[in-house]
Amino acid sequence: MVRAVVGANWGDEGKGKMTDLLASESDIVVRFQGGSNAGHTIINNYGKFALHLLPSGVFYDHVTNVLGPGVALSMKILLDELENLENRGVPSPRLLISERTQVLMPWHVLFDIREEERLGSRQFGSTKSGIAPFYSDKYYKTGIQLCEVYNRKLLKEKLVSICQVKNLLLKALYNAKPVDVDMVYNELVTIGQKISHMVCDTTSFLHGALKDGKRILLEGQLGALKDPDHGIYPFTTSSSPLAGYAAVGAGIPPYEIKSIIAVVKAYSSCVGTGPFVTEIHGDEAAELRERGGDAGEYGATTGRPRRMGWFDAVATRYGCMIQGATEIALTLLDVLGYLDTIPVCIGYEIDGKVIKDFPVTCMLEKAKPVYKEFPGWKYDISRIREYEALPENAKRYVEFIESYVNIPIKWISNGPRRENIIRKI
Ligand code: GDP
Repeated sequence: MVRAVVGANWGDEGKGKMTDLLASESDIVVRFQGGSNAGHTIINNYGKFALHLLPSGVFYDHVTNVLGPGVALSMKILLDELENLENRGVPSPRLLISERTQVLMPWHVLFDIREEERLGSRQFGSTKSGIAPFYSDKYYKTGIQLCEVYNRKLLKEKLVSICQVKNLLLKALYNAKPVDVDMVYNELVTIGQKISHMVCDTTSFLHGALKDGKRILLEGQLGALKDPDHGIYPFTTSSSPLAGYAAVGAGIPPYEIKSIIAVVKAYSSCVGTGPFVTEIHGDEAAELRERGGDAGEYGATTGRPRRMGWFDAVATRYGCMIQGATEIALTLLDVLGYLDTIPVCIGYEIDGKVIKDFPVTCMLEKAKPVYKEFPGWKYDISRIREYEALPENAKRYVEFIESYVNIPIKWISNGPRRENIIRKI
């Protein structure tokens, strides 16, 4: 049985918490795209963790964690994260890394930083983790697969050839220092040795697991609206965070994915630039930001304050649609307990016309939100465990979202901890 946990919004929906929760009833947790450019916050018996690259199943000793071929592997960050777990008393996790996974190189980070600097006020708000240059190289066929790190002759040849071009570009575009091929080579070989016991053919492993009836959880990063094809291009990420891509990035047959859990946030937040129709500003935004998440809405990777907004039903319905969601986990509902009334965006006004279907980016930039106001519940709901026990106004809010998006809400998360969960049947 394969399930996918994916974001329906702009990321930071609380997927880490949901994956951590669902991992307890899974045998395998797989990351299928992205790299260390986003963080999943998990709070459990060991403490609070911001995982960037490791799958969220690493806290369970019965779970095998997999980094699939679609992931951008920063070997150094991987080692740091593993070391951090060890230092904080987490038993060494079971982790497998696909030999086909490509390696994030030092120049990817350099180009990411330099290009954002060059763009100045037109920058995309990259996390500067090297993700866009990484995926560009992958599709330009100048990437390095992890298996190649263990073929020293091939590795050296490829590095020399790639760096010839990279160094020319670094100098010409940014007047930056060249990359030292030998240094990169030595570092790759050294770190490669440290992780070699985890590197294998994860595709065959997963197909074997499917035959054995194992429970597999696919863990997405970011959210549907950041998808390069279907999201708010070009303010998107560089790999697809969609459940449909999970089959490709993990290496399993698409028809095996039986359930797609779209994680939906009860209000909106967004990192990076780009149109954000329900964005709020000033004190109103500051209050929601401070009350949001488990300790305010700040990027788990960058620490940047997140842009805040009211719930956008138009964007969420679209996000769930392109994810192919079969069920919704509505998160962070507890955060809204301070409000007298809660606006929900139910349409976009563009050039005097109200639309309900999520448009392309150049139209989105002109969109003004059409709000419906809901009465707040003015109550701390974080200790509630039964749906029926929620205040009537909270149920009204949930049921409106469910009917607008037209996908069953099966989970309501009302706090950052594992136990803060309501199963709504
Ligand atoms: P992810 O990238 O989708 O995993 O999301 P993040 O970890 O970046 O952001 C979610 C934030 O909300 C984290 O700080 C979580 O600890 C926190 N969180 C998750 N679910 C809930 C919830 O239901 N209520 C509250 N108050 N915080 C939550």
